[in-house]
Amino acid sequence: MPHLSTVNYRDRDGRRTPGQLVNVSVSLQRTPRLIAWCRLFGHRPVVDGTDPTPMSSSGYRGPGHRWVCCDRCGVRSAPQGSLDPTVYAIGVRYRAPWLITSDQTRETYAGSTVPGPIDAAPTGALGAQLIVGPSGLSGVGWEAKVGNAGSEHTLALTLRLGWLGWLYLHTERHGTWLQRRLNPTGYQSRVTEVTVTARGLRWRLWSKRDDGTRFGLGREPWWRNGAIEPRLLDRVLGPRRRTAVDVPDATVTRIVRMPEADYAVRLKLQRVTSGRLRGRQTTTWDVGWSTINGGIPTQGPDRGRVFGSSVTVSQTAALNGTWPAEAAALIAADMTADRVRYSWQPDDNRRPIVVTLSTAANEKLRSAFANEMLRDAEALRRRLNSDD
Ligand SMILES: [Zn+2]
Repeated sequence: MPHLSTVNYRDRDGRRTPGQLVNVSVSLQRTPRLIAWCRLFGHRPVVDGTDPTPMSSSGYRGPGHRWVCCDRCGVRSAPQGSLDPTVYAIGVRYRAPWLITSDQTRETYAGSTVPGPIDAAPTGALGAQLIVGPSGLSGVGWEAKVGNAGSEHTLALTLRLGWLGWLYLHTERHGTWLQRRLNPTGYQSRVTEVTVTARGLRWRLWSKRDDGTRFGLGREPWWRNGAIEPRLLDRVLGPRRRTAVDVPDATVTRIVRMPEADYAVRLKLQRVTSGRLRGRQTTTWDVGWSTINGGIPTQGPDRGRVFGSSVTVSQTAALNGTWPAEAAALIAADMTADRVRYSWQPDDNRRPIVVTLSTAANEKLRSAFANEMLRDAEALRRRLNSDD
């Protein structure tokens, strides 16, 4: 019996893309396949398989494999059999021998080298995913995919409507006849698409989905995999650039206070400039951080430890030297946000996860930090003044 299942991603994932109204998928499984010819006249068994794959880095050639399937609908025999690659060529008609078995005993013969019968009433699935509103996938256009012999989705069609939405339709096993006519060998799906993006027009015509590229290795001709991207803004204002420069002497150690423990972290201030060469430049102040005595856990006492990342501090804090304090607070906020996402909070009764310094040592460290901070602020102020 056909079986319908639906998933509402907006409910399931918790985090919702702003402005997105709908994000659902439906799947109709165990639907009878439309293989009228096979049903009327029976399947047409042929030898199918893979050929040895040369490994680029060595002389090794993987073994080839042979099994039996219907040439029209692609349904494999069960058990599929394991024929000698040196005797059976891919694509030739297969006539005998057959494993004579009933449905109940098929699994017993799963490892048989002789193929079993081909299912007379195979089923497949039809699926769709619909997003109304922003999908995070830019551009307007369509893309059609014809799968390969190993594809889960045999045929697929994608429609992109920019921030209005996105629609994906696919089949599982349905359409295998077409796949076997158009793309019978190998494990490369083929895509054909036309998409208009903010950068320009992009197209692919029967292009290899995974290995096809416009440049470098696997490069395909322009008519097969090409784009017209005028990059008008690049020409007028210069390409977009991002440069990060370490602020000299702005590396300090601070304590990040979490409910269960204190964590010593090394902080490094960077001035980040981004924008186009002849356009508006924006400056941000990023602080890269790394823990000194073990990562900060985010999913449990010993799970999901974060050993470092970066936060963006305010310009005021960067210029007046208070940035280490702001960075430490932002790190604590980031780590807390992660814990909220993973629904974990430290148990107050538990022993601290990281054994921190004794009170006296801690006080010493704190006063050292205070001095260091004043010195940093003074150095930074002097340097910025001398820049002007
Ligand atoms: Zn068939």
